[in-house]
Amino acid sequence: MSDRAGVLLPGAWLGLLGGGQLGRMFAMAAQSMGYRVAVLDPGGDSPAGTVADRHLRADYLDPEGLRTLADLCHGVTTEFENVPARALEFLAAHCRVSPAAEAVAIAQDRAREKAFVRSCGIATAPYLEVNDARDIDNASAALFPGILKTSRLGYDGKGQVRVADRAEARAGFEKLGRVPCVLEKRLPLEREVSVIVARGANGEATTYPVAENEHAHGILDMSIVPARVSPAVAGRAREAALAIVQGLRYVGVLCVEFFVLPGDELVVNEMAPRPHNSGHYTIDACVTSQFEQQARVLAGLPLGSTEQLRPAVMVNLLGDLWKSGEPDWARVLAHPGAKLHLYGKKEARPGRKMGHVTCLGATLDEALATARALRTELGFETR
Ligand code: ADP
Ligand code: MG
Repeated sequence: MSDRAGVLLPGAWLGLLGGGQLGRMFAMAAQSMGYRVAVLDPGGDSPAGTVADRHLRADYLDPEGLRTLADLCHGVTTEFENVPARALEFLAAHCRVSPAAEAVAIAQDRAREKAFVRSCGIATAPYLEVNDARDIDNASAALFPGILKTSRLGYDGKGQVRVADRAEARAGFEKLGRVPCVLEKRLPLEREVSVIVARGANGEATTYPVAENEHAHGILDMSIVPARVSPAVAGRAREAALAIVQGLRYVGVLCVEFFVLPGDELVVNEMAPRPHNSGHYTIDACVTSQFEQQARVLAGLPLGSTEQLRPAVMVNLLGDLWKSGEPDWARVLAHPGAKLHLYGKKEARPGRKMGHVTCLGATLDEALATARALRTELGFETR
């Protein structure tokens, strides 16, 4: 299935570590190009496992599961950043793996991630690594008010405490279990934006249009694309994302999240070594989706165009919407520009990502109007 240039042709098996919705959308994109997809995931009814051509139901470090995946597949990718580095290393000894364990290890650790971003000449919030209560005693007063974040395993606002002063930071460090943290200065955010970037093994790299992200209760709520920032800010964000993947020699799809501060100052917040929720709009609005791009990179194919064809607003559908039963999808789809994506999760829990709707418009205002109308119809909290 592989020619001399190392291209995995359609028909080949592509492997995926992780069974969530990002994996499901990867599998669907790869399958529509003719690939076969094997998913390694311990869960039963996982969103990706149910659409995969083969679901290897095993733990990520299960030697037998990993060996079967390595024997079956010519290339393996991931859909979540906390995949054990040892699993990637094992697989890399047998087949093509992207992203590489080292890049994933940097993105898994906020302290390493921030240091790396700065080493690329790109700004982050002022921060301090906190490994010990004494680090807080010695922290500069300029870091307060701040946010204490665990270096590892945080997501959707979990593993963070807002701290007004040194005393609260000490208490916060205790509350977080004295695990390694970063203490970050709290910044005045004008907007949050993100850039999806893809880089192939040959160094070819490309960025997508900048998404503007609104969060609710620490979880992404809407992505508005193109972001309402100046062309200069958008250009700098895309340049920074390129510098990061080139610096990491990254192979795959990655998301960089930024804060836009007063005066159009731009700082990197964090990155995710995989496709990202804020890039879901690419499925319906761009020539090549972030998931097709992930498959292309893994297969060693040329990257596809990232051009955006229509303005888009992506609305996340969380489990909260199911509190009085299945939402009225016919009503959502009565908006001709609304594209519904559901992840096939059986149980709707509050805060759980169940699906998303991408609203397309001839203009961004039109897409926003559709998003607002369907949010009201679905009974979203008014904000
Ligand atoms: P997560 O891994 O949970 O996404 P983030 O570091 O992105 O963690 O933080 C979650 C949210 O908290 C951000 O999207 C932003 O709204 C807010 N936030 C994080 N860091 C800062 C900061 N330094 N200043 C102001 N707000 C912040
Ligand atoms: Mg974040």
